[in-house]
Order: sequence, then C-alpha cells, then structure tokens
Amino acid sequence: MKNIYAIGVGLIGGSLTKDIKTHFPDVVVHGISRKDTTIEQALSLGLIDKKATLDDLQHADLVIVSIPVDATVKLLPSILDNISDNTLVIDAGSTKEAICKIVENHPKRRNFLAAHPIAGTEYSGPGAAISGLFEGKTNIICEVEKTAFKLQEKALEIFKALGMRIRYMNPEAHDKHIAYVSHLSHISSFMLGKTVIDKEKNERDIFDMAGSGFASTVRLAKSSPEMWTPIFKQNKENVIETLEEYINNLTQFKKLMESDDFEGVFKEMKDTNHIKDILNGIN
Ligand code: NAP
Repeated sequence: MKNIYAIGVGLIGGSLTKDIKTHFPDVVVHGISRKDTTIEQALSLGLIDKKATLDDLQHADLVIVSIPVDATVKLLPSILDNISDNTLVIDAGSTKEAICKIVENHPKRRNFLAAHPIAGTEYSGPGAAISGLFEGKTNIICEVEKTAFKLQEKALEIFKALGMRIRYMNPEAHDKHIAYVSHLSHISSFMLGKTVIDKEKNERDIFDMAGSGFASTVRLAKSSPEMWTPIFKQNKENVIETLEEYINNLTQFKKLMESDDFEGVFKEMKDTNHIKDILNGIN
C-alpha cells in the first residue's frame, strides 16, 4: 500500500489519514476536496501530502471516501469506474443502505468495502481531525462478503492498526439500529438547543444558569447540518419511527406530571437508570 487517495479531508477523512500516516509511514496521502481552502488547510495540517483530483484515481492503492452521504451516493459509481483492478475503496458514511444499493451491480463492486466507524466529535472540517479518534471504537462493516477477500484483508490490517473493533452487519440492520443510537440523539440535542434558544430570547439570564448537564446534553447540536441533513434524508423511515417512539415517551412523561403522578415519574427515571449498565465500558 503506497498511494492513498482521501476524498474528503474533514473530521473523519482527516483523522483517518492522520492515523494512517503514523502507522504506515511509507504511504503517500493524496487529498481530494471541492474547495481549495479545505485542501490547503489539510496540507498545512499535515493530514495529506499532496493535492489530487478525481482523474488521478487510477494510481490509487486505497481510496477513502469521507464526504456527506448524498455526495458519496453520487460519486461512488464514478470512483469505482476510475480505479485499477487492485484498488480498495472504503467509505465512512453514517448510512449504509443507499450507499450499498447504488453500487450493488457495479462491475467493480468487489473493490468496495462499506464501513461506518462509530467515532466522531461535534466539529467538522480538517481543523477538527484528531489522532487516535478510532482507538477502541467500533467500525461496522456491511456486506463484507461482497468485497474481494484480499482487499478485505488489506482493510482489516488498517482498521486493526488504528485500534478499531470490527462488527459485521447488513446495511438495513445498520441503518435501523444507528437511527436509535446516533440519529435520534442528534435530533434530540438539536431540538433541546432550539427550545432553550427560543426561550432565551425572552429570558436573557437563562444561559447564566446553564450548567455542565446542559452543555453535555446539547453538545451534538453544534454538529454540521451539511453532514446531518443527507443522513436524515437517506434514513428517513427509520428516523421517523424513532421520533414517534421518543415523542410518545415525552408525551407520557408530561401526562404523568399533569396528573401529579410523581411515583410514575420516579419509576420512569428509575427504570431508565438501567442505561448505566448498558453504557458501562463505552466511552
Ligand atoms: P466534515 O468534517 O464536514 O468533512 C466533509 C468533507 O467532505 C470535506 O472535505 C468537504 O470538503 C467534503 N464535502 C462536503 N460536501 C461535499 C460534497 N457535496 N461533495 C464532495 N465533497 C464534499 O464531515 P465528516 O464529519 O468528516 O463526515 C464525513 C463522512 O463521515 C460523512 O459521510 C459522515 O456521515 C461520516 N461520519 C461522520 C461521523 C461524525 O461524527 N462526524 C462519524 C462517522 C462517520 P469541502 O470543504 O471541500 O467541501
């Protein structure tokens, strides 16, 4: 593995190339992005070694695609059209069904590995890239049997070097489960932030009272709408289902309050404390 082409050099693409450059010092990382300012920033931060374009992909041993999921769906077929027979293409998109579907009959399907590293922060762009982001984190691989065995091995070598734990899943199951543990949390955080911002217009002191609980609960509301809108669009049905269940729970909680059923309120919270055991060991 000598020439790596990173399409997208933001938080995920940049963190991947940063770690790959550390663990595989002989590689040359070529960066591809839409905006010159983004690629210049990635170069100056040392996330990539050289600028490249999509026309250069025939020289790639590995292509890493870390751009918004709608852009991945648009670009992935032409990326596969342009690579050599031995190139491995990995994507990092937060949805997997539409991405796997768009290349299901592509002649180079066996060169592609669909992945979702469950790691990130609320920040975006090359400046957000950090070392060790993937250490100890889960990387979900979908439809592994559709990737050529030799290329699977190449991908696993990289994921192992970066410290990732691998889980295998089909794209439908991935999108269904991730709607609960990631997509709903983001919507919940965005709407909690909105509720407080709307209120703050009338009560200016409210932010003086906001403590660390508020800050940690609305952290995800700082996330990029450019990245999240396409995710919600691609996973619309699953996300709506999670929202319906969440709204039902909020309504039920409100009803308990309205009817002075504080034993019920206590029980709801006590039952949910079980989340401590579920999250134990997850950082
Ligand atoms: P990011 O920091 O905003 O970086 C996005 C990169 O994609 C930038 O290089 C940007 O370049 C490029 N880009 C943006 N829109 C594009 C478009 N329409 N066409 C082509 N390139 C475009 O985003 P990220 O957090 O790294 O996310 C990248 C991918 O990783 C997404 O598919 C996301 O679902 C997935 N992911 C994210 C997280 C997370 O927590 N953030 C976690 C796991 C997976 P320009 O500035 O040049 O436009």
